[in-house]
Amino acid sequence: MQTLSKKLKAEGKTIGFVPTMGALHEGHLSLARYSKDKNDATVFSIYVNPVQFGPKEDFRQYPRNIEGDLNKLYALHKIDAVFIPDDKEIYSEGPESSVDTGRIGEILCGVSRPGHFNAVATVVANLFNIVMPDRAYFGQKDFQQTLVIKKLVKNLEFDIEIIVCPTIREPDGLAMSSRNSYLNHRQRKTASVLYRGLKLGSSLIKSGSDDLSFVKKNIENLIKSDPSAIIEYIIIADPRNLEESKKIKIPSIICLAVNIGETRLIDNLIVQK
Ligand code: AMP
Repeated sequence: MQTLSKKLKAEGKTIGFVPTMGALHEGHLSLARYSKDKNDATVFSIYVNPVQFGPKEDFRQYPRNIEGDLNKLYALHKIDAVFIPDDKEIYSEGPESSVDTGRIGEILCGVSRPGHFNAVATVVANLFNIVMPDRAYFGQKDFQQTLVIKKLVKNLEFDIEIIVCPTIREPDGLAMSSRNSYLNHRQRKTASVLYRGLKLGSSLIKSGSDDLSFVKKNIENLIKSDPSAIIEYIIIADPRNLEESKKIKIPSIICLAVNIGETRLIDNLIVQK
C-alpha cells in the first residue's frame, strides 16, 4: 500500500482516503464518492480494529462481508485501491504505542467505551502513515470521532485535510450503520425514535427554546415513550468541543446514544439558524 501511495505521489496525484470497518452501506459509499470528486486517486480501507472494541463489545459478531463490500466498491468505478490489512500489517510489534486523545475522547461515548477513541486515533494514525493521503473522509454520523481525528491531525502535525460528510439516512430517518443489521423487525421500527428525538430537539431550539434541561426533557420523553429504547446519553452542546452550557446557543449539536435491545445506536443533528 505504501509503495503504491509513493508511486501516486511521485506522479503528482492527490490521494483521498476513506477508512472503514466494512459491511458497507450507502453511508460508506457516499464518502468514497466525495473522495472521487476531489482527488486523483481514492484509497478505501476495510479493517475491523480489535483494539477499539471493549471486552464485552461486539468485535466477534461485527458484520464482515469482504466479497459483498468489494462488489459494491467495484460498482462505484475508479476506486484505485482497497486496502484490507491484517492485524500484523497494522500492529507489527503489537498495539503498545498509542495516541492519547485527552478529554474529547473521554466524554459522551468515551464514558461507556473507555479507551475506544485512543484506539481509533491510533489505528487512524497508523493508516494515515501507510496510505499517506492528502484528504481523508469521515461521516458526521460519528461526530465525536471527527473531533478526535481533527485533534489527532493537529497535534501530530499530519498534513492531511479532514473532510466531514453528511449522515446518510434510511427513509424513516434512521442513520445508516453496519450495526443496524443487529436489529430485529420490531427493533428496527423502534430505532427511528433517535431521529425523531433529534428533530424534536432541533425544532424546539429553532423556535426559541434555549433552556438545556427543558429541551433535553422533551427529547427524553419522546424516546422513552418506546419502552424498548434505553437512553445512554442526550447532550446539546457546542459543536466545536461537545461541551454543554445551561443556555443553548446556536449553532449547537444534539448527540444521542440509545440502546435498542442489545444494539447501541448513536446519532446527532447540528442545529443552525
Ligand atoms: P465504520 O465502518 O462504521 O467505522 O464507518 C466508517 C466511516 O463511515 C466513518 O467515517 C463513519 O462516520 C462513516 N459512516 C458510517 N455511517 C455513516 C452514515 N450513515 N452516513 C455517513 N457516513 C457514515
